[in-house]
Amino acid sequence: IWSKLKAGLARTREQLAGRIRAVVQGAALDEALFEELEAVLITADVGVATTQRLLERLRERVRAEGVRDAAAVPGLLAEEMRGMLEAVAAPPAAPGRGPGPLVILVVGVNGSGKTTTVGKLAARYRQEGWKVVVGAADTFRAAAIDQLERWCQRAGADLVRQHPGADPAAVAFDALQAAQARGADVLLVDTAGRLHTRVNLMEELRKTQRVLQRLDPTAPHEVLLVLDATTGQNALAQARHFTEAVGVTGIVLTKLDGTARGGMVVAIADQLRLPVKWVGTGEGADDLAPFDPGEFTRALFE
Ligand code: GDP
Repeated sequence: IWSKLKAGLARTREQLAGRIRAVVQGAALDEALFEELEAVLITADVGVATTQRLLERLRERVRAEGVRDAAAVPGLLAEEMRGMLEAVAAPPAAPGRGPGPLVILVVGVNGSGKTTTVGKLAARYRQEGWKVVVGAADTFRAAAIDQLERWCQRAGADLVRQHPGADPAAVAFDALQAAQARGADVLLVDTAGRLHTRVNLMEELRKTQRVLQRLDPTAPHEVLLVLDATTGQNALAQARHFTEAVGVTGIVLTKLDGTARGGMVVAIADQLRLPVKWVGTGEGADDLAPFDPGEFTRALFE
């Protein structure tokens, strides 16, 4: 996982850790350096507010620890980033903890990588030996349903689907009923993500949650919001709408392999106060890694 994550983060490594190292090289530890660091962090999509907080903490440590050498700065920044990530970190909910299936609702706008993430999670839980059911509640896109069908066939998971245009909440209900009847360990529910009707979409997600609760009052046990890392700060704005509508328990940050915007991970922790639970670094079944703050900062800085 480690070397794969490191490879997937190549562009962010270059833009963030690489440029931080370049900036401190031979530099004096002064205000001009802090200004350069600020520019680097903002370019890597750490976000303005989070960048200010990080630099404030860095200044404090430099003062408190009497740091004189700018060469110490990358290590200190890595530690502060890690601290921000650890403050909200939480592992993904694990199957096998209760009588019924672990119910995971996967939400996000179209194109974020939602359906792919559902497929990757299905493959992963199957590899771990769990019985998996997938509900195709993104009923507006026939292509998404077919895409899920292929993922499920490859992974050996059961797909519950209806005709395109069916009521998404009804599909979710059917899927949980099937998962319970078949003694499944995990139910993954893919949802729609048409943002142009945002109010309706949020209402639909709430309805889906309510309907699941009729069969299991404790469901959904996890609500994963999928965000496309290549969209940077826009993804954060989007995330606020979803977190207001449904109780998001964690973030899946996809497409980290194609972007230098990996600094978003820190902005998500600091601004949304939500844990990143998984990161996507490619289109294949194996290109999904559970997120770990220590591993992530090491992959970036070492
Ligand atoms: P949805 O509309 O949110 O369901 O998005 P899809 O799952 O259909 O994904 C949209 C596109 O992004 C597809 O071409 C996926 O293969 C691609 N994709 C998803 N996750 C990743 C990732 O982590 N890395 C890369 N490079 N591509 C991804």
